[in-house]
Amino acid sequence: MGFIRVSSLTTTKNEEVAMFRFRFYVCLFAFFLATIFSVSYSSGTENFPDERDKIRKVWLDATRTVVHRIRDQQANKIFQFVEKNSILGIPNEKGVLVAEDAKSANWFIIIPLREEDKKINQEWAMIFEASLVGCFVKEIRSLVLMDYIPFSSNIKAIVLLHEGYHAKIFCENPYEEQSDYEYCLEEVRVCTFQNRVMSLIGGKKYQAILNKEVKRIASLANVSKGSFSVPSRTEYNKELAKVFGKPASQIEKDFVQTSVWIHAVFTFLEKKFKKESLKQKVFFLKKIYEEGGIL
Ligand SMILES: [Zn+2]
Repeated sequence: MGFIRVSSLTTTKNEEVAMFRFRFYVCLFAFFLATIFSVSYSSGTENFPDERDKIRKVWLDATRTVVHRIRDQQANKIFQFVEKNSILGIPNEKGVLVAEDAKSANWFIIIPLREEDKKINQEWAMIFEASLVGCFVKEIRSLVLMDYIPFSSNIKAIVLLHEGYHAKIFCENPYEEQSDYEYCLEEVRVCTFQNRVMSLIGGKKYQAILNKEVKRIASLANVSKGSFSVPSRTEYNKELAKVFGKPASQIEKDFVQTSVWIHAVFTFLEKKFKKESLKQKVFFLKKIYEEGGIL
């Protein structure tokens, strides 16, 4: 069983190295997306296969259903933001093609990615390789949905709400650059929201699975001054299918189990560190992103 060790005692030197890698990564990404990629506008709709619009509608409908069911004020606000401000985009060799006019100053693009988009060019192929379920790319104000991966309805809603929250944070308060800390702090905010959405969808059944996972983590965790370690994720817990529905793919299983694990670690850190837990959550996510090559 692998352990993930998180140290909060980062020296200035380590911090600088991490920052450099982060900037490099973002610059590289920004280079592809902001210079090679461009946003172009289509005068007609002939370049917009109905298919792509249908995909967006499926994701929005799935999210609407969940938002109506859970009656969470923040989820409602995020969904309304997405419905009001999103415009459809199609990936092309130059970047992204947009046919709709921006509906507001807070406009952003939703790009449903399909399997064949991998062949457009190397830059798009790179996004396929990043093993993400969705992402918000601020350089092209685009929320990318990995529709080529099969997801069940509830999970589509969770992914769209998560990325929609990132889109909302950016559009309402655009930033040039984020430090590693700011980047991870935003992730803590968004993951905390996602955790609540999952609890509201899953009710008591989800709470029982979560409690078990918190127990497992607490029994195997090590906390020493300035650092802690927690056990890594387990295989997909089949009980989760009774909560969120039958998973549509292995990637969905991995995503759901990882989400439960993160939720459980957050809960463990809150119990262990009380008011200090925010900082520990930031370091925990930072470690995950570093290991995943995102930072
Ligand atoms: Zn996120």
